[in-house]
Amino acid sequence: MNKCLLRSSFAAPLLLIVVAPFGFGQVQFDLLLQGGHVIDPKNNLSAVRDVGILNGRIAAVAEHLDAASALKTVDVSGLYVTPGLVDIHVHVYASAGEANSYAGDNSVFPDGFTFRVGVTTVADAGCAGWRNFEDFKEHIIDRSKTRVLAFINIVGAGMRGPKFENNLDDMQVEPTAEMCLRHKGLIVGIKTAHYTGPEWTPVERAVAVGEKAGIPIMVDFGATRAERPTSILWTQKMRPGDIYTHCFSGIRNELDDSGNLNPAMWTGRKRGVIFDVGHGGGSFAWPVAAEAIKEGFLPDSISTDIHITSMNAGMKDMLNVMDKFLALGLSLDDVVLRSTWNPARQIQHPELGNLSVDAPADVAVLRLIEGQFGFTDMYGARSNGTKKLICELAVRNGKVVYDLNGITRPDWTTLPKGYRETGDSRWDAVTPAHRRRTTPPATTPAPR
Ligand SMILES: [Zn+2]
Repeated sequence: MNKCLLRSSFAAPLLLIVVAPFGFGQVQFDLLLQGGHVIDPKNNLSAVRDVGILNGRIAAVAEHLDAASALKTVDVSGLYVTPGLVDIHVHVYASAGEANSYAGDNSVFPDGFTFRVGVTTVADAGCAGWRNFEDFKEHIIDRSKTRVLAFINIVGAGMRGPKFENNLDDMQVEPTAEMCLRHKGLIVGIKTAHYTGPEWTPVERAVAVGEKAGIPIMVDFGATRAERPTSILWTQKMRPGDIYTHCFSGIRNELDDSGNLNPAMWTGRKRGVIFDVGHGGGSFAWPVAAEAIKEGFLPDSISTDIHITSMNAGMKDMLNVMDKFLALGLSLDDVVLRSTWNPARQIQHPELGNLSVDAPADVAVLRLIEGQFGFTDMYGARSNGTKKLICELAVRNGKVVYDLNGITRPDWTTLPKGYRETGDSRWDAVTPAHRRRTTPPATTPAPR
């Protein structure tokens, strides 16, 4: 009955009447996701549960939560409820500014590409260095609804092409570390990428910053050089907790000459080095991924390396990359672990990537469909799969930010004639009631 009343534009006063039998102030949840299969790897949970959300935080996860105590209840039976996905390798320092630059038009604006695939947190992978990080923060991080964190580039100018990225003189420890400390928690690591020279300098300077700031480095190891083999990188240069991204590209000796996984990958893992997918446009090859999985070398984290090229090539989006690991035989629980709780811990944000009580209510509701699907790698080679994940609902800080099939919305034929308002700002960030428009302003407001 209360659901029906809530459809009216007079929801607030009527709600008091409806909840009166339970006492005033007894609305325990702003949003209740009911009957979904919850996968919450941090809490070793993979079972049908209700998830209650209040004031932007997870308030309860239980076998049964009473719908009468919720402002909004959504039936998600038959769907999977997971922590909001955490994609730790993205490129989002977007603008219409610099051509062929990740601090420009190679990047994408985060909100257009995240919620629709269940991603609620991203970490930009080194688009900005200390010289332009605060510009990045002002124009993208602070303006996005997506939670945007960042690996800062060891190159002061950021990821703006070979001329900048091969300049050892611009890889300075002190100003980079200072920027990390100024934005603790926001800058989650230091990126070194695309270096083509023979020196270890970029990795060593990134590590030096990491030591000062207490955060990991992320390595895209650039050109393959005999002077600095990956075997030394994994077994000596990287520290426990440092992240090797593009781990299944195969272009940096991830496989040995006989086609087996390079034993130094195992040695690195035993030392605590993290292996991240970072699919991108040129960093995921079926023979490498298939061999690694066959040998039991699963990636620690699944990430996209999304940019304007990879998103239209084999990578596409976070769920498509997760689908590939389902196609390789991983369980959905294993795939979700590597897309939520593992990456959250890698970037030292253990409050994210889980559904513990009091965690920020970032949630993805996913549908797993069966059929005939194809997935392509960096070389355009296809592998077939039978499973595909689709994002039905994304919740960020307790509010619905994406709803593919309108499962949180009332059927319009049940609404009063001339209806305008269907949501409530306590759970809805898509079409909350307070956005009802009255008379349009007589003059155009001055640009701000
Ligand atoms: Zn990248």
